Amino acid sequence: MSHPCLRCGACCAHFRVAFHWSEAEAFMGGVVPSALTEQIDPHRVAMRGTQARQPHCVALQGVVGEGATCGIYAQRPSVCREVIPAWEFGTPSAQCDKARVAYGLAPLTPADWAEPVQPHSA
Ligand code: SF4
Ligand code: SF4
Repeated sequence: MSHPCLRCGACCAHFRVAFHWSEAEAFMGGVVPSALTEQIDPHRVAMRGTQARQPHCVALQGVVGEGATCGIYAQRPSVCREVIPAWEFGTPSAQCDKARVAYGLAPLTPADWAEPVQPHSA
């Protein structure tokens, strides 16, 4: 079974994605492409598109709820790595549930992980 996130993408089109500017500066060891970010205050940048009234990260590819991937998966910011899909590791995820419900998608349940799931690698 494909990873549920690859059929979703809702969290990438629901929240503002803000993080410390150093994550987008190579000289600080950052890996997030700076061209895809915008400064929001002296300490933080945000992924472009996520400050809009209806957020949609510029790096999100595909269609939410059908097929979606992160175009910079290996270089995504720390806040993206911290969003855990509900029940993938046995715990609920309010962020995951909230984003999915906003798109009319049912929250994930433990049953979504009952079958072997391909790892999310892209
Ligand atoms: S973490 Fe949840 S909301 Fe985000 S893409 Fe995965 S299933 Fe969708
Ligand atoms: S950088 Fe990738 S994982 Fe993070 S919000 Fe954008 S599309 Fe989603």
